[in-house]
Amino acid sequence: GTSVPDADPLLQVLDKVFGFRSFRPGQEGIIRALCNGRDAFVLMPTGGGKSLCYQLPALVREGTAIVVSPLIALMKDQVDSLRQLGVAAACYHSALGAAESRQLLARLHAGELDLLYVAPERLLSEGFLARLSDIDVALIAIDEAHCISQWGHDFRPEYLQLPVLREHFPGVPLAALTATADPQTRRDIVERLGLQQAHTHIASFDRPNIRYTVLEKARPFEQLQRFLARHRGESGIVYALSRKRTEEIAGKLAASGLRAAPYHAGLPDALRHSTQEAFLRDDLDIVVATVAFGMGIDKPNVRFVVHYDLPKNLESYYQETGRAGRDGLTSEALLLFGYGDIALVRSLIEQSENPEQVRIELHKLNAMVAYAEERGCRRRTLLGYFGESLEEDCGNCDTCLDPPETWDATEDARKALSCVYRVGQRFGVGYVVEVLRGADNERVRRNNHQTLSTWGIGADKSSDHWSSLLRQLIQRGYLHQDIGNYSVLKLTERARPLLRGEESLELPVPRLRVRAVKKPKKS
Ligand code: ADP
Ligand code: ZN
Repeated sequence: GTSVPDADPLLQVLDKVFGFRSFRPGQEGIIRALCNGRDAFVLMPTGGGKSLCYQLPALVREGTAIVVSPLIALMKDQVDSLRQLGVAAACYHSALGAAESRQLLARLHAGELDLLYVAPERLLSEGFLARLSDIDVALIAIDEAHCISQWGHDFRPEYLQLPVLREHFPGVPLAALTATADPQTRRDIVERLGLQQAHTHIASFDRPNIRYTVLEKARPFEQLQRFLARHRGESGIVYALSRKRTEEIAGKLAASGLRAAPYHAGLPDALRHSTQEAFLRDDLDIVVATVAFGMGIDKPNVRFVVHYDLPKNLESYYQETGRAGRDGLTSEALLLFGYGDIALVRSLIEQSENPEQVRIELHKLNAMVAYAEERGCRRRTLLGYFGESLEEDCGNCDTCLDPPETWDATEDARKALSCVYRVGQRFGVGYVVEVLRGADNERVRRNNHQTLSTWGIGADKSSDHWSSLLRQLIQRGYLHQDIGNYSVLKLTERARPLLRGEESLELPVPRLRVRAVKKPKKS
């Protein structure tokens, strides 16, 4: 046509096919490397523009690009939008009928496809790899590459077979892309896929417009209401652990006049779909959801994300909070952190039958708890987990804006530990709190515990105070909570020096509500 003779061909395709004027950070280097036949490793947050990194080279290079992707729904979305751009793309998955499959394979053999999206189990199925060796493969892109690693938070066994790709297609450039990988997972991906001298792009994961806040959970629904009062009419997501809880919370919010609805995998498809649509159209302000909500949702003006319960790991937490503020405007992420939630999440993790998986997930849960208990810059901890270091504190998280104070918990810890001992190490948190507070009820009388020296020694402080303290003593290893046995509390060795007065204990002052804070340094 009329194009300038020496215009960069990549920029021409970028403009003509995709309608973009310039590359996003990182894209150009990755695209050039792949076009030149090199491998690439791409770590970029969701929304960073990973797809273009293999879609553009797929058009520039000879042959068909193979894209491995784990979710049929996401593959279909991508193929639809590519077709709208006039790109010859298709997806091959197990839901295709026999006739459709045959037609698709015919197009593949005729060299008519620029991109073919394939589910991993399909790709590796008998015969398909052999078919591919008859055609020209432009490149192989592996999306959600963290699924190959057991260290990743979303391990998929069907990804484990992908290394055969390297053997089958020795000269074909391989691209591994992911939005979530700690340093160990990254090494795992590169090693397992056999990436060689790959062009590596690791984008910053910082989302400076999101303010992170953690409150200690106490009467969480009231905490949520106070938070929402500052976000009237704004769009947001509230994540809760169970389906039942999402319905309860959404119901109460709706009853209090807010435009809120629940979302979880147990609701009828049509209802889930209409809820999602209403949220995208801003006809609904708040979705109260399990983690089932949010995948593939690209809504720019989500102003807040609340975690009503503790997420299982920082990968999920980062992804879920990352749905806030895609438009770059000031947004908030609030986590309600209850010590009781730790035991709950732990018991969910321990349901798995794979001991190695349990070990890894418990390790990840510990990192999540450490983040929630962090007294330094929250963002530094979060990014540090993903292997990224911040030069200075962020100035836009709760601990930066309002540094936590500590209190001397020695005396109260002794009272609580003695009480656990006096009731015979046969009771759980709730009952120990009752005895500390001097409850005069049938159960206490039946056990004759109103005669104990520790009965009522904590009457001057609230039940919330004592249960929070007991949970922290569990978390810090002074008490053992026997989950398999009515969650009974027992003293550990660590408790001795504290009880004997040889050690003291400083704890952070619990933060129950967001205090009025100074303006952030950065916005
Ligand atoms: P990811 O896969 O990393 O989550 P996507 O590939 O879905 O991100 O891209 C996110 C959005 O950014 C898409 O709407 C895409 O069209 C857009 N995008 C990607 N690259 C560019 C670019 N160079 N210029 C403008 N928009 C872009
Ligand atoms: Zn900070």
